[in-house]
Amino acid sequence: MSIHEPQVHNYEPQRHPIAIATLKKGRQGYHWIVRRCPLCGKRHTHGGGRLGGNPRELLGHRASHCLQRIPGDHGYILIETDEAKR
Ligand SMILES: [Zn+2]
Repeated sequence: MSIHEPQVHNYEPQRHPIAIATLKKGRQGYHWIVRRCPLCGKRHTHGGGRLGGNPRELLGHRASHCLQRIPGDHGYILIETDEAKR
């Protein structure tokens, strides 16, 4: 499993949990798939930008996509993992 340390200047581990994401390439663009949200445990999809762009620029701190409000939710840190190696 390869995990890249997030390059986020305001990264606060206690405040922002880690969300492991895998990159998926769609027809319109990239998507980051969070298989298990650290806040609610559900699956979320985040936009990864256009094809031809760099989806990794969209890693780091993101607002959570939880359907229900989670107490203390300030978003999470999206980091990439290589699904094939898990
Ligand atoms: Zn969630």
